[in-house]
Amino acid sequence: MPELPEVEVLKRHLAPLLKGRTIHCVQVRRTRVIRPTAVRTLQRTLCGATFTDLSRRGKFLVFTLRKGQSAKSIVLIGHLGMSGRMYLLPAEAALPKHTAVLLDLGGDRFVFEDTRYFGRFTLDAGVIEKLGPEPLSPEFTSDRFAEALGRSRQPIKIKLLDQRVVAGIGNIYASEALFQARISPSLSAASLTAKQVQDLRNAIRQVLNRAVECGSTVPLDYDRHEQRDRLFYFGRAAEALESYSERLYVYARAGEPCPRCATLIKRRVQAARSTFYCPRCQGRRKM
Ligand SMILES: [Zn+2]
Repeated sequence: MPELPEVEVLKRHLAPLLKGRTIHCVQVRRTRVIRPTAVRTLQRTLCGATFTDLSRRGKFLVFTLRKGQSAKSIVLIGHLGMSGRMYLLPAEAALPKHTAVLLDLGGDRFVFEDTRYFGRFTLDAGVIEKLGPEPLSPEFTSDRFAEALGRSRQPIKIKLLDQRVVAGIGNIYASEALFQARISPSLSAASLTAKQVQDLRNAIRQVLNRAVECGSTVPLDYDRHEQRDRLFYFGRAAEALESYSERLYVYARAGEPCPRCATLIKRRVQAARSTFYCPRCQGRRKM
């Protein structure tokens, strides 16, 4: 599932391609992804509108558009869900089977492809209002983080996936950040010391920044489905390195030696999702 870095890289890729482009026609093939917006509302709102900006909030893409002389901008929210992809295709290219929404931009088409329909492409911006701070912004301070973790007795790994605590972290980067900060994924959120909270906050920023940097240097190719990477769901060009997952230290590496101490990485299931950690570096000791 795409997390903050993947969405950020996608945003950087799409922003210059969309800016100034006008939507001529909107086709919705899977109504589920535009909920709660109705098909006719989406079509009426977007037809004739021009993209003015694209930003990211957590794992959400925030498209801003404007129509004619209207001073009021239109906000469109996109979410890749489990395996969604967004890209431009030449008008004459064949459409992928799982096209959920299609925007005719004249010349080429913007495609939102979603094989499992867990994604979103909607005018309802309510979902982003409930999000916690952006981890890479100055507002994500150790104090604010400590406050959000509060007195929760939930394991810290599960708490990190709560988008109200901090926006944009998913299963992959939660494991990576905890490894980086040497914190056991099973510790209850409330039991973290002030130093651990600070270390974890710094680790989150480091891990996400590194992933964004890494992803930004990879040539993307949206037409080549078979080149899809385990992490960058939106596709990677054929010439890009195969060893892309090398930058992950613990995620999906159960049974492999810890890069720090050579103890074998373990996998544990927490809230029905896999957590990867080093039992030695991330022991339960408190500092
Ligand atoms: Zn280790």
